[in-house]
Amino acid sequence: MASRHLCKKGIQASFKRGLLVLPRVAASTERQISSTVLNRASESVSFSFARYINGFGFSSLSNRYSSREPFPTETSVRYFHASRETMARRKEDPDRQLSHRERKKQTVKTKGKFSKREKKTDKPPVEAPYVPLRLKRLEKGLPEKTVDIFEGMTLLELSKRTGESLAVLQNILTNVGETISSEFDTISIDVAELLAMEIGMNVRRQHSTEGAESLPRPPVVTVMGHVDHGKTSLLDALRNTSVAAREAGGITQHVGAFVVGMPDSGTSITFLDTPGHAAFSEMRARGAAVTDIVVLVVAADDGVMPQTLEAIAHARSANVPIVVAINKCDKPGANPEKVKNQLTAEGIELEDIGGNVQVVEVSAMKSTGLDKLEEALLLQAVDMDLKARVDGPAQAYVVEARLDKGRGPLATIIVKAGTLVSGHHVVIGCQWGRLRAIRDMIGKQTDRATPAMPVEIEGLKGLPMAGDDVIVVESEERARMLSEGRTKKYEKDRLLKAEEARIEQAEAKAKETESDEGFVRVELPIVVKSDVQGTAQAVADALRTLNSPQVSVNIVHSGVGAISHSDLDLAQACGACIVGFNVKSGSSANLSAAQASVKVFHHRVIYHLLEDIGNLIVEKAPGVSEMEVSGEAEVLSIFKILGKRRTEEDGVNIAGCKVMDGRVCRSGLMRLLRSGEVLFEGSCASLKREKQDVEQVGKGNECGLVMGDWNDFRVGDVIQCMQPVIRKPKFISSESGAVRIEC
Ligand code: GDP
Repeated sequence: MASRHLCKKGIQASFKRGLLVLPRVAASTERQISSTVLNRASESVSFSFARYINGFGFSSLSNRYSSREPFPTETSVRYFHASRETMARRKEDPDRQLSHRERKKQTVKTKGKFSKREKKTDKPPVEAPYVPLRLKRLEKGLPEKTVDIFEGMTLLELSKRTGESLAVLQNILTNVGETISSEFDTISIDVAELLAMEIGMNVRRQHSTEGAESLPRPPVVTVMGHVDHGKTSLLDALRNTSVAAREAGGITQHVGAFVVGMPDSGTSITFLDTPGHAAFSEMRARGAAVTDIVVLVVAADDGVMPQTLEAIAHARSANVPIVVAINKCDKPGANPEKVKNQLTAEGIELEDIGGNVQVVEVSAMKSTGLDKLEEALLLQAVDMDLKARVDGPAQAYVVEARLDKGRGPLATIIVKAGTLVSGHHVVIGCQWGRLRAIRDMIGKQTDRATPAMPVEIEGLKGLPMAGDDVIVVESEERARMLSEGRTKKYEKDRLLKAEEARIEQAEAKAKETESDEGFVRVELPIVVKSDVQGTAQAVADALRTLNSPQVSVNIVHSGVGAISHSDLDLAQACGACIVGFNVKSGSSANLSAAQASVKVFHHRVIYHLLEDIGNLIVEKAPGVSEMEVSGEAEVLSIFKILGKRRTEEDGVNIAGCKVMDGRVCRSGLMRLLRSGEVLFEGSCASLKREKQDVEQVGKGNECGLVMGDWNDFRVGDVIQCMQPVIRKPKFISSESGAVRIEC
């Protein structure tokens, strides 16, 4: 009993510790105890035994020696001993010779928390279907991060703003030759810009006026308005009263800006010399908020026109106050009151009606009212309390730049704050230089420029762009570094943009050329000419509603006036048609249109015009290919023709049919219907009429038809013949006047 207990306990314990221990325990037990005892012991442990060995994949063994069958003594124990042969085999096996630890190393855990990734083995290449490479989409839509930087910020502050680690920033700092002892040390604004640029960020320089004295400065004025309303004439007239004109005996050169001085008060106004909102918005787009006041020129004989409204919109969006100059008041047809009413209707709160927008009646031609305009501008400037820091390094914007043969790159700049001193090193956009000379508006050399003063600077290494900011740096080395950093960043941004545009273009093209429905999208370029701007816009908008998935309407130009030769040239160049609404074209233009085969549509009623263009679109549309039932035949009898081997499988069944509708063509796709259900679709192998091969059989005629890959005809089957057809879009006009193209 004791030995039985010992045996059972010993074996169980051994199993608990692991199967590998079992042979030793079992072997020693074998020597000590009799086979009967062992037999019983084996019997009693066979359940737990089976449980363990099952886990090791010896299930067959466990099944064989179940509790009901006696556990064979010899076999059971010896089974777990390695026999001599097994040992010999193990020695030969290289894997077996590895130590337990080595084997463990080789075993790769693929599951669980600490699973290791399986090492790549040299597997044979797997054949996979070719998947075309997709163009990698650049991070679009994510606006590039811009950080505000200022003089004397700490490295820690910059790290927080950029989100970059201190270690990375310190590394770049060392590369640019700067050393700091701790992250709380301050860095200069230029170094901050270099660091930010290096990690691919845009910067916005914040200039502090703290502690510096700010003094009143002259306003910077831009003249805007509709074409031909007299902007250039007004600027010319004002320039003649300018400081330059007085000092240079009335001769002025066009340098981008000029100053008009008030001899009595000693104040002055700086006028930007580029009229129109294009220059204004271009400067704004480059971040140069140079203009303080906008002079809105409106011709007294013409009133508010489309570009007047555009100018108002530009001034409003820039939050720049307006002073209205009603020009051409000398003209007999001048009606300043009408202009005022129109402006009021546009939401301009004129002074006359209790608002704060000043209105001055002038005549650029007669040079009348100019002093009143200047007074109004000065008053507006006083209202705005325009002040600027005079001391300290200058901040300025480029107004114009040009290349002079003798003097190299020249830039007209307007100082915004501080004082620009000759000899300073400057960085302008991506360019840099040492200020060799500063010239005022009459070309006289000066050694310094103060706020709102337009000057021309000399000494730059390259030509900057209008709207670029001018910053003064401490040394040539710093100027070089900043310029290089900006050029690198500019180049990188440019390439990224170009790449993005390329991908976008490729995607758009792919979308356009191959739409989901499998047709090619074509373009219908149109030039619109109308009697007035508003109508031209309305006509263009109405034409755009005819845009369809197959034909895209592209208004290449919309303008006012008769159809001219230049319109024809444009239309010919881009393969456009011309739409003339309420306008005529001269006889010579008509002739040229005919010669250049440019389609010209003249209309006075919009629906007629839309109908014409709608029909043109339908004509141009490539259409969609569709299968259409061209004929239908009924199987009346079946003829069997046996093959060479005279077997059932070898033979061919001929469907003897009668064409009930349309015509059945040999080239068509055959569809077999039985009780309305489609059983087969395939080509026609043979079509005969009275033993003659025919291409088609018309309604009411009988024929013999063999279908490729289908032999199972039955009397009463219906065979439809399908033919491909191109379906064009339709021009739909409703009674309400709405039109559309239905594809
Ligand atoms: P811009 O296109 O707005 O620059 O207009 P311009 O300055 O070129 O002037 C257009 C036309 O209007 C020119 O023929 C000028 O002579 C004429 N013009 C400009 N101002 C006056 C004015 O005050 N009175 C008259 N009668 N004509 C003017």
